[in-house]
Amino acid sequence: MRKLPSNRISSQKARRVDAGGLDAYADLHKPSGVVVCKTCRAVHERGKWRWSDAPDGAESALCPACHRIEDRAPAHVIRLDDVPEEQRTELVAMIHHTADEEARQHPIERLMWVTDTKSRIEVALTGVHLARRLRAAITRSWRQRFVSKLGVDTTVMRWKDAEAAS
Ligand SMILES: [Zn+2]
Repeated sequence: MRKLPSNRISSQKARRVDAGGLDAYADLHKPSGVVVCKTCRAVHERGKWRWSDAPDGAESALCPACHRIEDRAPAHVIRLDDVPEEQRTELVAMIHHTADEEARQHPIERLMWVTDTKSRIEVALTGVHLARRLRAAITRSWRQRFVSKLGVDTTVMRWKDAEAAS
């Protein structure tokens, strides 16, 4: 029997994703030397993924964000339920804008998808830091409009109806 590789994602590590902001996918991608992501060209250097020029001879690999995108395995999903029609465009635009800003600073914090069906907006993310930032931004801009329930890998934010909000 082959020994399991030590960098395999354990369920213990996966559970730590949201508790401590650690990321099982990130644990898989802790190269020792300088590495450049073969998909997005982010560079891993001195323990961090950054947007910078890869030095000559950098090893090529997949960064945790691109790995999650390839696996369609979000680190966190924010579900926004019952958002009224007239608020949806602004909300979705704000999500994109905030995610763009975050990804410019942190290559591994990225938006994977936003789906907007009539009753639900679903936002899938590669990192829990971006999830926290988005939750804070939504709460700030739509003060008292949402009831939030934070789960390990999902946040559900439900729009209060007019009567409950008043
Ligand atoms: Zn990448």
